Amino acid sequence: MAEIGEKPFRAKQLSQHYFARYAHDPEQWTDIPAGARGKLQEALLPELMTVVRHLSTDQGTTRKTLWRLFDGTLVESVLMRYPDRVTMCISSQAGCGMNCPFCATGQAGLDRNLSTAEIVHQIVDGMRALRDGEVPGGPARLSNIVFMGMGEPLANYKRVVQSIRALTDPAPDGLGLSQRGITVSTVGLVPAIHRFADEGFKCRLAISLHAPDDELRDTLVPVNTRWKVREVLDAGFEYVEKSGRRLSIEYALIRDINDQAWRGDRLGRLLRGKPVHVNLIPLNPTPGSKWTASRPEDEKAFVEAIAAHGVPVTVRDTRGQEIDGACGQLAAGER
Ligand code: SAH
Repeated sequence: MAEIGEKPFRAKQLSQHYFARYAHDPEQWTDIPAGARGKLQEALLPELMTVVRHLSTDQGTTRKTLWRLFDGTLVESVLMRYPDRVTMCISSQAGCGMNCPFCATGQAGLDRNLSTAEIVHQIVDGMRALRDGEVPGGPARLSNIVFMGMGEPLANYKRVVQSIRALTDPAPDGLGLSQRGITVSTVGLVPAIHRFADEGFKCRLAISLHAPDDELRDTLVPVNTRWKVREVLDAGFEYVEKSGRRLSIEYALIRDINDQAWRGDRLGRLLRGKPVHVNLIPLNPTPGSKWTASRPEDEKAFVEAIAAHGVPVTVRDTRGQEIDGACGQLAAGER
């Protein structure tokens, strides 16, 4: 503020508008002289991103947003309202460089990292929409955030960590959300997991495992050629010790590729006795791919093989498939 010749107390006013009232339109800054608003917006809260379109399903309770960033880059976020909670799935990068063959985002490669502000704004807009009753079911508050949209969050480390601070610092410095409601999902960048464990967050960590054996994981999650299943899990367990949170294991079930009962058994052995939860995700087929979701009987046998080791396991509900809800599909269709 001082640098642009404004009164320092305007900093707090502007923070209040953005983080406490979700008001980024200068017209709403009524405690700031109209003549000063344009300058403040330009210098401190420029319009970073605009909605290309919203797509809704599940009677409006699942809403996907396609964003265009200031330089034309496209990213997606998804809001999912359940009877007892509201979750937002946000992007940390435009595109992704991890190249997992079953993921739509992975096919197009990495455009660029999102800035901290671009990550945070997805949430601010979602909170505003919920408050304003834009999502059927009456005004609501956001309870959970998952970094499971486009991108590998730990490959955009600094900005993701800064965004977690902005999401969880109390207003007016941040949005005042609970760290416990935030999940960071990673392919398993081991050094970054160690570093993340030392941040002192109470966030949940999810590891996208997708195979219990290195031979198959090398092909499904190519970064596995650098950091193996054993190393990734050990880094995850270290995070568990430091954060006190259970580790989530993500596993997309792909028909006849990684869904054999013996692989379920092997996964159960790796995780037995550990504070983990296995999330099985029926594969959401991407256009042009020969892969598809598992047969119901194979899925059931896979679940039982894991559960036999006393490891908690659930199959994730698949919202938003009819609106290209799977990672990167909406942006891919826009290209
Ligand atoms: N890069 C991070 C977060 C983004 S993807 C990660 O890999 O964890 C969020 C989750 O969706 C990951 O577990 C990812 O493997 C999974 N996913 C990607 N494409 C999918 C598809 N077509 N069907 C089901 N799950 C998919």
